[in-house]
Amino acid sequence: MRKPIIAGNWKMNNTISDSLALIEEIKKHKLNENVEAVVCVPFTSLSEVKKAIESTNIKLGAQNLHWEENGAYTGEISPLMLKEIGIDYCIIGHSERRQYFNETDETVNKKIKTALKHNIKPIVCVGETLEEREAGREEEIVKEQVLKAFEDIDIKDVENIVIAYEPIWAIGTGKTASSEDANQMCKFIRSIIKRKYEEKTGENIRIQYGGSVKPNTIKELMEKEDIDGALVGGASLIAEDFAKLVNH
Ligand code: PEP
Repeated sequence: MRKPIIAGNWKMNNTISDSLALIEEIKKHKLNENVEAVVCVPFTSLSEVKKAIESTNIKLGAQNLHWEENGAYTGEISPLMLKEIGIDYCIIGHSERRQYFNETDETVNKKIKTALKHNIKPIVCVGETLEEREAGREEEIVKEQVLKAFEDIDIKDVENIVIAYEPIWAIGTGKTASSEDANQMCKFIRSIIKRKYEEKTGENIRIQYGGSVKPNTIKELMEKEDIDGALVGGASLIAEDFAKLVNH
């Protein structure tokens, strides 16, 4: 049985005090314990949010990490620094990082390996552009991203990885993929993992959909067989909406 996982990606929003205010609002809602609820907050808010969620089931995530443990990488954050805070998850290869910060399939692969080494569960983002979908290349693009991300990843680690299928044209645009299209791609991704590893590994890995998910669209998405959760930007910044997504 795959435990559903709803992860909020706060992106570059919320100062420490804003973050604490949002977490306190979220804590006022009773969240379904059968769903894993994760908040991926800015680096500067991680420590304080960690303390604020101590007595809850909410898990903590970062939005990026460097693949090296330390060194001359000005402005970067090491997995050791994140582990010390006690994060559970880290988003890796979000399309905004690929688009604006030169993240590549190779750096995504290195970051997944370092996260796993430090017992941080990666949420690995893949997804096609509108141009690629209109050209009918979405499966080819996503397959390449998945296979490169999982290069030299040991089978024992695969179930600690979450894949987020996020069509770029649906992120922050208000356009959601239809639940059928989203499920079809999640099923396709699962088949790639089954073929690369074992049937059971593919059955057990959790695959989220992401792209303008809102309280009124979550139920239909979650009813689909191969969609195990959502990675959510905008709606995760509103406590009531985040709670509705978790309690879908
Ligand atoms: C995201 O940040 O991964 C995302 C899907 O954003 P939004 O829900 O705002 O489209």
